[in-house]
Amino acid sequence: MLTIFTYHSLDASGSVVSVTPAAFADQMACLARLGWRGISLREAIGQQQQTGQWPERCAVLTFDDGFANFFDVAGPILNRFGFSATVFLITGHVGGFNDWDAPPPGLGAQAMLTWAQVERLAADGIEFGSHTRTHPDLRTLTAQDAYDEIVGARSELEDRLGQTISTFAYPFGYLNDNAQQIVKQEFRAACTTVLRRANGDALHKLPRVDMYYIRSEQQFARVIAGELDGYLAFRRWGRSVRGALLRN
Ligand SMILES: [Zn+2]
Repeated sequence: MLTIFTYHSLDASGSVVSVTPAAFADQMACLARLGWRGISLREAIGQQQQTGQWPERCAVLTFDDGFANFFDVAGPILNRFGFSATVFLITGHVGGFNDWDAPPPGLGAQAMLTWAQVERLAADGIEFGSHTRTHPDLRTLTAQDAYDEIVGARSELEDRLGQTISTFAYPFGYLNDNAQQIVKQEFRAACTTVLRRANGDALHKLPRVDMYYIRSEQQFARVIAGELDGYLAFRRWGRSVRGALLRN
């Protein structure tokens, strides 16, 4: 079993994609107190491919979209605990704002990471993955346009960082056969928004636990202990019933 947590923005707005800086600090302290580590997806995949097992007592921390508050808020907290994380970046919005879509209520305009910040974080060991150039619904694109979005963003990241970029996250968690096929060919692993812990999943369709559903430190501790799988299944069902309200 591997728990991959999904964060977006660390701010006090109370929006569906926000976790407060204080709650995030408490969650990381909770991991450390339990003897766990927060790691990047790259590290988890590396261990899995070497040993055939997910790393023990490790949770993968993923941050979608590349909000600038990752640099200001998450970076110092992760450093304090010696943790790493993966940021799935929308390369066309680096240095800009979260205006690929209307922001969820309460969030408002948020600055995104700049290339200078991305370069500094990458030098500090933060992993960057592709989250496309412009955050489209990949199901609506031609095969060529989907390829340009998925692989184009990766090429830009590789050129900027001088590193191999090996992970991807599907915008909104939406995918079709074509997008899956491209991702499977081009990346070692990719994340969806399917709400559960990973166990025997295909590496290009890894489920995650969105922090929207985890609102207390106690719940956080129970997720990694595997005590909330039933709760996650229930929330997964509720989400499928009311449709994709969560705009990731
Ligand atoms: Zn996203």
